[in-house]
Amino acid sequence: MRKNPIESEIDLNKDGRHAGFLRIPWSSNRSAYGWVPVPIASFKNGEGPCVLLLGGNHGDEYEGQVLLSELIHTLDVDHVRGQIIIIPTANAPAANADCRVSPLDGGNLNRSFTGQVGDGPTSWIAHYIEQELLSRSDYMLDIHAGGSSLHYLPTLLCISEENAERHKERQEFAAKLGTQFTLWFPSDTDGVFSSSAAARQGVVNFTFEAGGSGRLDTKTVIAARDVLRRFLHLTRVYDSQEENLLSSPETKQFEDCALMFSPIGGLFEALVEPGDVIRKGQPAAHIHHVESVDRKIDTLYFDHDGTILCRRTYARTVHGDCLYQIGI
Ligand SMILES: [Zn+2]
Repeated sequence: MRKNPIESEIDLNKDGRHAGFLRIPWSSNRSAYGWVPVPIASFKNGEGPCVLLLGGNHGDEYEGQVLLSELIHTLDVDHVRGQIIIIPTANAPAANADCRVSPLDGGNLNRSFTGQVGDGPTSWIAHYIEQELLSRSDYMLDIHAGGSSLHYLPTLLCISEENAERHKERQEFAAKLGTQFTLWFPSDTDGVFSSSAAARQGVVNFTFEAGGSGRLDTKTVIAARDVLRRFLHLTRVYDSQEENLLSSPETKQFEDCALMFSPIGGLFEALVEPGDVIRKGQPAAHIHHVESVDRKIDTLYFDHDGTILCRRTYARTVHGDCLYQIGI
């Protein structure tokens, strides 16, 4: 197999606080022998679990980026029991460009965990995370959001365990993280998501959809920060002495979900919002056709009973755009 060209400035085997960059070699018009920096920090102190925290897997999802960047400045390594590895902008080229996918190679990092070293930087980052970071980790929290095109209420995405006892443990852990919603998926070790890579490496992992809309609002950031602090507390990797975090808001759990796509183009008027409980046959959206004097407004209807987890941000919509994710 070809070698992954990414090099780390920091030694993950060393005790203490270390911060620096992963170097992605990238030869471009403006920098023939240059490299693109991906910030990384390691806090290591004695025996205990290894916890990997990822943000910026998609570059236009900002909550995880700011919370993990903040954490690098606020963690006290003396309170760590094991190791915490933090990457606030996992797909840094995408984050630097405020884009979901990388402007260097068009790569979507959370569709690039193939286990192979591919042809571009996004594939190299995915391979590095799986082979160098997840391979040494016990837990992973990958903090996402809806990005520019979607907005979520705080929703935890969890992988079901086939072993009943382990699944019960996972459910109890997830409930204590205190997100508004929890959505369960079947195990997917052949997949291309960070969760697939984590499962292949035997890592207990959660994907967290914090908010979205390509913006930061303080209410969402505060709620997401609480989830992150509870995660560190529950993994026992950080002695934060924040006992009040043990009481978590109740989470509403869903065993399945549906995506509603627009069957036509036009301007999308949302008739419901994240958190709304909906019924099959209920009007979901109006699609307006302002470019036409002949075409009437189309109304779309829900096919399921459920709860709205996220909705499309933009009004302009084309055939195939996702309008809602519905927890069932
Ligand atoms: Zn994402």
